[in-house]
Amino acid sequence: MNRTNSISRREFVAGTSGLLMASSLGKAVAAPASTSGTKLAMDGGEKAVHVQCPPTARWGELERKRLENMLGQDSLFYWQGPQTKLLLERFREVCPVKYVFNCSSGTAALHIAVNAAGIGPGDEVITSPVTDIGTVIGVLYQQAVPVFADLGKGTHNLDVKDVERRITPKTKAIIAVHLTGNPCDLDALRKLADEHKLILIEDCAQAWGAKYRGRPIGSIGHLACFSLQNSKHITCGDGGVVGTNDDRFGPLLQPCGDKGSNREGKRTFPLFATNYRMSEPQAAVAAVQLTRLEAIAAKRNQLGKLLTEKIADAPGIIPHEVHPEDRAVYWFYYFRMRPEAFRCDRSKFVRALGAEGAAVQGGYIKVPLYGEEVFQKHAFFGGRWPVKEMGLTTMDFTKHHCPNAESMLTDGIRVPIFEYMTEEYISQVAAAIQKVARHYAA
Ligand SMILES: *Cc1c(COP(=O)(O)O)cnc(C)c1O
Repeated sequence: MNRTNSISRREFVAGTSGLLMASSLGKAVAAPASTSGTKLAMDGGEKAVHVQCPPTARWGELERKRLENMLGQDSLFYWQGPQTKLLLERFREVCPVKYVFNCSSGTAALHIAVNAAGIGPGDEVITSPVTDIGTVIGVLYQQAVPVFADLGKGTHNLDVKDVERRITPKTKAIIAVHLTGNPCDLDALRKLADEHKLILIEDCAQAWGAKYRGRPIGSIGHLACFSLQNSKHITCGDGGVVGTNDDRFGPLLQPCGDKGSNREGKRTFPLFATNYRMSEPQAAVAAVQLTRLEAIAAKRNQLGKLLTEKIADAPGIIPHEVHPEDRAVYWFYYFRMRPEAFRCDRSKFVRALGAEGAAVQGGYIKVPLYGEEVFQKHAFFGGRWPVKEMGLTTMDFTKHHCPNAESMLTDGIRVPIFEYMTEEYISQVAAAIQKVARHYAA
């Protein structure tokens, strides 16, 4: 499941300490990055990266205290639970929305959002093909049709013009994925949504703490969905939050995550929904994690900006493109190679960077979502896709193409960013990228 963030914190540490050991066996004194030679480490030259970043603990005393407090409760169920109340209160400080529901995952938050928005059989939902598959699972379970639009070259987010081209009379919603925590062009998307009476859903799973033109991420679309899965900026192992300011959808969030019941009055089930509840132990941890968010978001933003600054003039490289007035929170950093600008392919470039001591990886997900076998075979429910059999859609994922989304996966390189990294380390990673890019420049 977690292949999308496949350089985990643990692997990153194992990798860098191994490199440190190797380098301390070799040279006793390492030269600063700026003066290291141009001979690649892969060819026996000096490494560009020689500092280590020991990871800091992501949870500790604060979480322990809150969990102890929770153990005094009679019930660990979410309904009227004090941990849940605290989590939702603190969530509103980060994303000021009127209605909030905490749930079992980001995937659940997104399913609740599309269910609350009234998305149903044959409805079309335009979204990004380069994202976690959880973005579209709820869409498909509502028997609606994901329509994938292409992405910006350096932003890796929805290209608004391509979204507009894909709007049909069946389109009901847009899910804007803030990939890696880089805000989408929300004003343009909101304007487009309002013009066509579409619902704009923000997938903020990778964007905790991000800001669009100074405004909190999640507060511009009609609905906002967050994930608390272990690999995200803050976590309780697994969890999610969905929120909205819209009075049409707000009252439906909780029943859409709790079997269709609002728990007030009689045990009736006015709408159909599954159980996506979050328990009090998870809420307790998540509530404390929110107090750590600002420092995490600020640090990742600073490191990502620094990397862009330092590789901006590297030949053949397209840095991660962020609007200057936005705060991106770099769940990871993703730059692209212009393939024609180099005498080597991506895998050699990545190997060269690895030898320099920069723990990077080629690509993100293997293929755009529509390239996955279940999409290519339209085999979503028992090997079948009822809406297609019923004639409610003519969608054929074997004919679907988003050229830029496809090329970003074959020419992009992912640099892990973690809050415990130092500016010195990132500067050396940048020096490694500069060195390798210059070495292989065509
Ligand atoms: C992680 C993620 C999801 C799904 O969240 P889960 O909590 O893993 O279900 C959805 N969208 C994006 C962009 C994600 O990164």
